[in-house]
Amino acid sequence: MILDKFSLKGKTAVVTGANTGLGQGMCVALSQAGAAVAGVARRSCEQTRLMIEENGGEFLEIIADLSSIEPIDRIVNEAVEKFGSVDILVNNAGIIIREDAIDYAEESWDKVIMTNQKAVFFLCQAFARQYIKQGSGGKIVNVASMLSYQGGIRVPSYTASKSAVLGLTRALANEWASYGINVNAIAPGYMATNNTNQLRSDEQRSNEILERIPAGRWGTPEDMMGAVVFLCSEASSYVNGFTVAVDGGWLAR
Ligand code: NAP
Repeated sequence: MILDKFSLKGKTAVVTGANTGLGQGMCVALSQAGAAVAGVARRSCEQTRLMIEENGGEFLEIIADLSSIEPIDRIVNEAVEKFGSVDILVNNAGIIIREDAIDYAEESWDKVIMTNQKAVFFLCQAFARQYIKQGSGGKIVNVASMLSYQGGIRVPSYTASKSAVLGLTRALANEWASYGINVNAIAPGYMATNNTNQLRSDEQRSNEILERIPAGRWGTPEDMMGAVVFLCSEASSYVNGFTVAVDGGWLAR
C-alpha cells in the first residue's frame, strides 16, 4: 500500500546540524516515520533527544564540528556501531556570513565553503562508500537554498556554496543511482530559524521578503517534514538528482 512506502521503520538516519532549526525538525520527522536517528552537532542535542524520546523514538548524539572534514569517518563509524548500518544521510548543517561582496573577507569565504560545500561532498562520499559496502542502496538529502537559484544580497559565499549543493546533488545522483543510492536536495525558502535572525530583525528587509512570499508567512521546521520523509523513503525511489523547493511559492513568483 502506498503509505507503507513512506515508512522508515527499520531504517537508520544521520542528520547534521541536529540541535536546532530545520535539522531538529527533520530529525523529529524521520523519527516519527520510524527511523532510528543519529544527530550530528557541535553542541548538545538534548532538546532534539527529548522531542524524539518522548514519542518512543531512538536517538544517538554524535558531537562533531563540520568546519573540517576530520570527523567524517568517525560519524559513519559511530552510527554503524550503534545501529548496525546506515540508510539515510541528511546534510543539513550550514552557516551564513553576511557582508558586502566588495569587502568580503577570505576567512568568511573559507568558513562558509568548508561547512556548506566541502563537508557536504565528503559526507556524501563517506555515506555512499558505506551504502555500497552494505549493498543496500541508501538515501542522501542535501539542504540547498533559494540561493541555489538566485543571487541573494551580501552573501556571496553562501550563494556559491548553495549553488554548488544543487550541482553536486545532480552530479552524485548520476554516479550513484546504479547502486540504488538516491541523491536529492530540499531548497527551503525563507524559514524562521537562527539562520535568518539577522534578516528578520531588519524590519525593512523582513517586510520586503514577507510581501514576496505567496503563502504570506515565513516557513517553519515543520514545513520540511513531509519533503524529507518523502525523499528518505521508498516512495521516492525513482527520484534522482532533484532539488525540491519548500518555499511557500517564493520561486514561483
Ligand atoms: P540554524 O538554526 O542556524 O541551523 C544550522 C545548523 O547547522 C545548526 O545546528 C548549527 O549548529 C549547524 N552547524 C553550523 N556549523 C556547523 C559546524 N561547523 N559543525 C556542525 N554543525 C554546524 O539554521 P537553519 O535554518 O536550521 O539551517 C539549516 C540548513 O538550512 C542550513 O544548511 C541552511 O543554510 C539551510 N537553509 C536555511 C534557510 C532559512 O531560511 N532558515 C533557507 C535555506 C536554507 P550550531 O547551533 O552549533 O550553530
